[in-house]
Amino acid sequence: MRFSKLRLNGFKSFVDPTELVIADGLTGVVGPNGCGKSNLLEALRWVMGETRAKAMRGGGMEDVIFAGTSSRPARNFAEVSLQIDNSERLAPSGFNDSDLLEIVRRITRDVGSAYKSNGKDVRARDVQMLFADASTGAHSPALVRQGQIAELINAKPKARRRILEEAAGISGLYQRRHEAELK
Ligand code: ATP
Ligand code: MG
Repeated sequence: MRFSKLRLNGFKSFVDPTELVIADGLTGVVGPNGCGKSNLLEALRWVMGETRAKAMRGGGMEDVIFAGTSSRPARNFAEVSLQIDNSERLAPSGFNDSDLLEIVRRITRDVGSAYKSNGKDVRARDVQMLFADASTGAHSPALVRQGQIAELINAKPKARRRILEEAAGISGLYQRRHEAELK
């Protein structure tokens, strides 16, 4: 699965609809302090099902919605869409019926988050599993936050094992086992 496009609307500082085409090879994002580079990576993690407000540098999940400035009012919702090139049909079943996969997450104030896959409602868990199995999930070591290296070094062995499991692409199995044990 290859990410081909990221679209943001009302997400953090990206108040106006913004499109980032992700070409083959390496993509670099450069810009002055505070221009939104980290927000872009957070948008990527968020659309993959991140549920921890802290990982989004916020106090609550609604803090990802554009909060307004002196010249622009706050927004009521935030939406992020991730387009995935699935021409090799690597997505798991349930997601694997087209060459192009579009996952959309939208959060509305006082309502919460909803997810769609190619226009159809899906559960947060389904989206999290889609990316966990592809080992690119919201907690994937493929995404390294500012300060995360220090956290990794200081992590307890159990927490470090989780990171390795995600890297190995087996965290989806781990989550399924955990859910089975709860039943
Ligand atoms: P640095 O180079 O310092 O790491 P950066 O390019 O990573 O900077 P970000 O941290 O992505 O910058 O962006 C920070 C900006 O995003 C700040 O100006 C902050 O006010 C703005 N911002 C964050 N959340 C929101 C929000 N909910 N609404 C509006 N603006 C927001
Ligand atoms: Mg940053």
